[in-house]
Amino acid sequence: MLSKRLEDALNAQINAEFWSAYLYLSMSVDASAKGYKGVANWFAVQFKEEQAHAQIFINYVLARGGKVELAPIPEVKTSWETPLEAFEDTIVHERKVTSLINELCHIAAEEKDFATSNMLVWFVDEQVEEEENVQEQIDAMRAVDGNKFGMYMIDKDLATRTYVTPTPLAGKE
Ligand code: MG
Repeated sequence: MLSKRLEDALNAQINAEFWSAYLYLSMSVDASAKGYKGVANWFAVQFKEEQAHAQIFINYVLARGGKVELAPIPEVKTSWETPLEAFEDTIVHERKVTSLINELCHIAAEEKDFATSNMLVWFVDEQVEEEENVQEQIDAMRAVDGNKFGMYMIDKDLATRTYVTPTPLAGKE
């Protein structure tokens, strides 16, 4: 059985993952409206990934006989001046998510819940990738420093990103 403390923390994380999904959908919609098709695609993929993260936590809580409680999703920002600004908000947000995952690891360890500790390893690794990936886009956008052709090329590149089902969900969607 999951302890109540861990069950509550996992439910809070499910909500945080949906909030992330909502944030990235908002960024995708905003980029699309401003003509950045590639940026819109990149955040649309991100939107799907965050929903998958929520689903992984949901499946896990259910597998452990816990109760999943879906809480309201707080509102998100709806407009960004530039794609760079959206990516800068994204890196700040992903660092926050990393700290949430670390805190979950801490609680799982304190509760001596080794199954949860193991499940969280995938998320610990995933956050390293997330931060690295977002930083790469920020570096590219800073390198072109507002140059329109440079931004056009980056947007073309971001259009090629495709969604890949996260390993813990493979065959379960
Ligand atoms: Mg996530």
